[in-house]
Amino acid sequence: MEYPLKKVYLELTDVCNLDCSICFRHQWVTTPANMTKCLGDRVFEQIESVSTLETIVLGGMGEPLVSPLFPDMVKRFRGKEILLTTNGTLIKEKLTKDLVAAIDLIVISIDGMEDRMLQDRGVVFEDLIASIDYLNQLKLENEFETPRVDVQFVASRENINEIFPLMDLLAEKQIRNLVISHFLPQHLDQADEILYQRNENKPLKELFHKIRNHSFKRGLRVQFPEAELKTERRCAFISSNATYITSRGEVVPCYRFSHQGSEVVFGRFKTLRQYTFGNILDTPLLDIWNSEDYLRFRNRIYNNHYPSCPDCDLVEGCSLIQDVDFDCNGEEPNCSDCLWARKFVICT
Ligand code: SF4
Ligand code: SF4
Ligand code: SF4
Repeated sequence: MEYPLKKVYLELTDVCNLDCSICFRHQWVTTPANMTKCLGDRVFEQIESVSTLETIVLGGMGEPLVSPLFPDMVKRFRGKEILLTTNGTLIKEKLTKDLVAAIDLIVISIDGMEDRMLQDRGVVFEDLIASIDYLNQLKLENEFETPRVDVQFVASRENINEIFPLMDLLAEKQIRNLVISHFLPQHLDQADEILYQRNENKPLKELFHKIRNHSFKRGLRVQFPEAELKTERRCAFISSNATYITSRGEVVPCYRFSHQGSEVVFGRFKTLRQYTFGNILDTPLLDIWNSEDYLRFRNRIYNNHYPSCPDCDLVEGCSLIQDVDFDCNGEEPNCSDCLWARKFVICT
């Protein structure tokens, strides 16, 4: 099966100006770094040479607006669909009218109201909302419909009720799309904060129903994650023919395999590591994308030929669930326990 490369998640930096309590970066032992100018040039040339490529997502495990390369990259990629995922705090400082005109979609992370955003992310809520006003103003001046501005909400037991006042406010600010993703614990002491479960989850489905009704009345479209484990699996990265380039040039399949870290899957602690198919500095992007290993991996995941841990009878005694090195078919890396493919965790 042919897989033309259509989408690149480009991590211009894994540095961030915030230090959120839920951040995966807390587990890193490597020092976060900006993509260098030299690597940025190489990445740009290689992406430009891919005729099938349609979409660039400026995002990753850091804040893209921190990167000195950001303005230049937006200008150079103008003409492709450009998506930006951001914590929103540097929008007024870094996004000029010109840059905004070149971006198609901006996704801002907001998962609570005033006190929570200050406590969990160190963000002054009013300033964040002022950034949305600023974007709306620039859109008016540019007389463009774009960029569309969406909000992403990472939901847990702690913050889910704040989604109601947040929806009221977002609707006032002409936000039309709200994406809910579940909180993915990184430590065992966070395991009980999740809202999803393996078995039928009536309380959460009822809560989602209330959220849906609330949003309809306000003209807001909400994208929901799953509330309970479903049989269907779909990797959004592989299904959209996407790859991810880290700030050091590693070509990895997705967010989950982009850096070291840990996750807790239904109460089971797992060590994560980066899984790279090659580095842009050594091998051209298309050669990495079309390499036998990457093709074989994409075929396996796309066609669902991999085991499933959450509903496996052996899961309680299986040592393979402690990391992502191999699955029980001897294949690497191990996607069998991935909560992204189960649509519990969602990203743009
Ligand atoms: S904004 Fe994102 S990358 Fe930055 S500290 Fe918070 S969770 Fe981490
Ligand atoms: S790795 Fe295989 S045997 Fe182990 S829990 Fe997952 S599906 Fe079951
Ligand atoms: S199934 Fe999960 S871990 Fe595997 S490539 Fe997709 S998102 Fe990554």
